[in-house]
Amino acid sequence: MTNSDISDVFSLLSKLMDIHDENSFKSKSYATAAFQIDRLPKELSELPRTDIASQKGVGESVAKKIIELLDTGELSQLNELIEKTPEGILDLLKIKGIGPKKISTIWKELGVESPGELLYACNENRLVNYKGFGAKSQQSIKEALEFYFSNQERYLYAAIAPIAKQLDQFFKRLFSVDWVFITGAFRRQCDIIDELEFLILSPVEMILEALSANEHFSLEREEDDVLHFKFQGCIYITIYSCDEENLPQLLFFTSGTAEFNDAFDTQFPDIDYNNEATGDDQFFEAAGIQFIAPCLREDASVIELAKAHAIPDLIQVSDIKGIIHNHSTWSDGLFSIEEMAKACIEKGYEYLVMSDHSVTSFYANGLSVDRIRQQQEEIDRLNDKLYPFKIFKSIECDILGDGRLDYEDAVLASFDLVITSIHQNLKMTEEKAMMRLMGAITNPYTRILGHPTGRLLLSRKEYPIDHAKIIDACKEHHVVIEINANPRRLDLDWRWIRYAVKQGVMLSINPDAHSIDGIDDVGYGVFSAQKGMMTAKNNLSSLSLQEFEIFLKSKKIN
Ligand SMILES: [Zn+2]
Ligand SMILES: [Zn+2]
Repeated sequence: MTNSDISDVFSLLSKLMDIHDENSFKSKSYATAAFQIDRLPKELSELPRTDIASQKGVGESVAKKIIELLDTGELSQLNELIEKTPEGILDLLKIKGIGPKKISTIWKELGVESPGELLYACNENRLVNYKGFGAKSQQSIKEALEFYFSNQERYLYAAIAPIAKQLDQFFKRLFSVDWVFITGAFRRQCDIIDELEFLILSPVEMILEALSANEHFSLEREEDDVLHFKFQGCIYITIYSCDEENLPQLLFFTSGTAEFNDAFDTQFPDIDYNNEATGDDQFFEAAGIQFIAPCLREDASVIELAKAHAIPDLIQVSDIKGIIHNHSTWSDGLFSIEEMAKACIEKGYEYLVMSDHSVTSFYANGLSVDRIRQQQEEIDRLNDKLYPFKIFKSIECDILGDGRLDYEDAVLASFDLVITSIHQNLKMTEEKAMMRLMGAITNPYTRILGHPTGRLLLSRKEYPIDHAKIIDACKEHHVVIEINANPRRLDLDWRWIRYAVKQGVMLSINPDAHSIDGIDDVGYGVFSAQKGMMTAKNNLSSLSLQEFEIFLKSKKIN
């Protein structure tokens, strides 16, 4: 059981206590414990039991519960509360923006017991009559519910990738290494995956027989040579059965989107798909066009580029030379600057850009002007020690409500580069969002615009912006646009990366790492960048140390 699992248990315990109107002092202390446990540097399960109570934010009574959890895998107090709570109310807790107090009212006063009922109640305008709800909060609950329903059983690429790999190996053991292919949205490196699709060279009957013995697979539907399973009750798996003759063709048509496939089929009607091809790359050869990587088979436009042999060499993970946008223990990161730097050296990177939070992000321990000075002294010392590796002084500066930045110019001038991001008051109109972003882009100190839309895939919608206008303004003001590589963000979206590349705007694949593991998130950013048809030349973090230093000097601030 990881700290993150333990934190989830305390968070749920606290929320359920609130819903059932239990001791609010205690529920608050469990919420605090949940927050702290998630941030502990060491796994509680690996500590001697006697040391648990002395961990930050834990204490005696929470420690007792942690030990119960570690020993038995459950918490009796939580079990009792879950027992008393309808399942639909537990589902409501998973929806962002509806807190336990509101759920308590919804349940006890409106008699609503599930997300579906609640959406219905919103549509009937029933919430507005209750204490603590107005037309506005009813509307935002309604939107949160619609978002919840549209995201059921969908997964982040990063969350499903380990399962996809395990299943791939499992199928290869069951059938044969050369007979199993992963296809569909996963092969296209989409950021959200609704189902995992496999192509298996085997008759339907054999696939059915092989999987019928496995309790984790339940057959949902069977149509001709396509089998639809649910894996472990929650993940949709589609298996296409094929023979040697139609394998390349099926691999081709299950990899591309319908739009791509239709366009290809219409433009090259004479291709003989059964003509002894061994892989789907041969169809591009047969069509006389450039090979189109699976990740690009999204729409028809790429075919035109392939005809003109104009698809560039896509950026690779090995093209990343520096790790830009990172957090340390100075703000909300888990490791010291030195530990982050050493991890980068070990991974073969040439430089690290430390961008802790600015002062307005108080919840993330944002840096005061005094602490900035101390941090910069520490970086100077480390640069002497770690030479020729280099750490750059940066900040992830909050864009305030009126578009100003979080420090005076003199402070901003002390950084090697400033990344500007919006973190607070994310609920805003397009007009307001544009005003804030334009304020940051036109500020001469902004070198990189961080996570431009603030979206969290599957849980928080982006604030509305005029993408083209923002990208054009970044070009005009020589601002680099971040591709935040955290798999939950992937912001800028790949569809707009294509536009930015076309406009000649520089982008930067940044991990926004809050830990050493987080550094590797650059890989997800590269997947997005490939979909956006980016080359290493379009990417700031692909500059060598020497080139990066020249870049830093390239923008004159008057
Ligand atoms: Zn941020
Ligand atoms: Zn950040």
